[in-house]
Order: sequence, then C-alpha cells, then structure tokens
Amino acid sequence: MNRPPLDSEWQLPPPQGRFGAVRKFDVHTGVDLYCEPGATVLALENGLVVDIIDFTGPEAGSPWWNATKAILVEGQMGCILYGEVSASVVVGQRVQAGEAIGEVVTVLKKNKGLPMTMLHLELYPNGWRTAVEWPLGEPKPDVLHDPTALLLLPCADSSCTRSLCPLT
Ligand SMILES: [Zn+2]
Repeated sequence: MNRPPLDSEWQLPPPQGRFGAVRKFDVHTGVDLYCEPGATVLALENGLVVDIIDFTGPEAGSPWWNATKAILVEGQMGCILYGEVSASVVVGQRVQAGEAIGEVVTVLKKNKGLPMTMLHLELYPNGWRTAVEWPLGEPKPDVLHDPTALLLLPCADSSCTRSLCPLT
C-alpha cells in the first residue's frame, strides 16, 4: 500500500502537477506527488500542527472532488500545507521531520487517464493559516511560494542519501 513513488531521487511531476501549471479553471497552487491511496505522509521538517482544514469536497466548496483535508505544519521553512489527505495528528501537536502525519486520500472522482491520488503540497510564510486560490490570468498570490525547492533539500536524516520526500 505504501509504495514509494520515487526511487533514489525526487523527480518533478508531469507538467499538470507542477507549481504554477495553468489549468482549465485556475493555476495550480502546489506540487502534486502521485502515489497510491493510503500512502503515508511524512513531515518534511520539525514543526507544529497549526491547523487541519477541509481542503476539497463539499465542505471545502468543491463538491466535484472527494472530501479531503489539508494539514498545516509550521516550521523553519515556513507553513507547509499537506493537502488531499486524512490527518493522523491534531492541531497543537508537535511533529518531527520524518514522522507520519496522515495518509493520502484519492481526490479525483472520475478517471480521465491521469493520476487520481496525490499529495498536494503548498508552501506559505510563517504565520499564514489558510489555502489561497490562484485565479486564471492573475499574478501569483504574494503569500504563495513554490515548494519545489523544498523537496530537493537533503533529507533531515543525515545518514539518508535520498532527496527529501514526504511520502513513503
Ligand atoms: Zn495539486
């Protein structure tokens, strides 16, 4: 079930999963890491769980997608949003880099030949607490950062030779 999506090196997702990808209705606000349903999500860095929000589905205002949550963890690199997941942590909990914080939930309802299950990662400055939208044709929201570089950092475990990946 917890099939690693990556071998030794983290790879960029296909174009539609990259940060800033222009889609039919909006611009992509994060990076999608494709995986199997139920893949374990690991914290990228030490931090504090500052919020768990409805991310997709009816409660989040997007009923065309399955109901998923997003976990917001604030640490040294900023406020990292782990989206399209279910949480196994609670708000106020401290987590360590590499610690399991939830599982990936299948977000797409219809199979259009593209991956339907993915960790959607976003990056905000410290203090930010919500997910922003990036409407088509508008500039990137100031608070939204490209999380790609964050994934290319060496793993927090100094004995690990892999690039850092939040999935197992
Ligand atoms: Zn995404």
